[in-house]
Amino acid sequence: MKIIMLGAPGAGKGTQAKRIAEKFGIPHISTGDIFRANIKNGTELGKEAKKYMDEGKLVPDELTVRILLDRVKDADCSKGYVLDGFPRTIPQAEVLDSELAKLNEKVDYAVDVDVPDENIVKRMSGRRACLNCGATYHLEYLKPAKDGVCDKCGSELVLRDDDKPETVNKRLKVYHEQTQPLIDYYSKKQILHAVDGTVDPDEVFKAIEAILK
Ligand code: AMP
Repeated sequence: MKIIMLGAPGAGKGTQAKRIAEKFGIPHISTGDIFRANIKNGTELGKEAKKYMDEGKLVPDELTVRILLDRVKDADCSKGYVLDGFPRTIPQAEVLDSELAKLNEKVDYAVDVDVPDENIVKRMSGRRACLNCGATYHLEYLKPAKDGVCDKCGSELVLRDDDKPETVNKRLKVYHEQTQPLIDYYSKKQILHAVDGTVDPDEVFKAIEAILK
């Protein structure tokens, strides 16, 4: 089963993608996480990606597609995967479709987690992330047991550069210009399903489970 998560940055698609991955026993693949891991490890790829990420811009398609196509070739992807943050442009979606078609495969579901822009800005400025293990928290909705400390690995929690309000506004603009057209793209392929992302995350997940049945 191959699932794509769509939605604005901060809509909660990552949280839902992790839950889907757990329930269906398939890997959760986040291009954002792959880039952040590379930044942390100081790789050339990380250095290149950081230039764009810190400005709220998309990493160029060529680089992103290469990374993603490499990842989905891994053995753990043989039963499918849930993609979180990819594709983000029409050309990325087209490359994915054409690569899958060569293998006689296709994307099965595109799930759009729908949240209005005004909710997004509020959510993201309260988000705190662990740069060591990638876990995310929220000052209001998902507090760590101890303020400023990751429950999972004990590292310090920070406001990611790309979650700062000025960057969030830029990311929303980029989302509307470059990523939102994918809603139409997958709607035409008749695999698009929208869920209300403003409700409690458990409710969002129930709605997604009903779609994936
Ligand atoms: P995310 O964690 O998915 O919100 O991604 C964080 C940042 O990584 C984005 O703002 C982009 O700069 C970059 N990024 C992640 N996925 C992609 C993608 N599919 N295409 C281009 N840039 C991406």
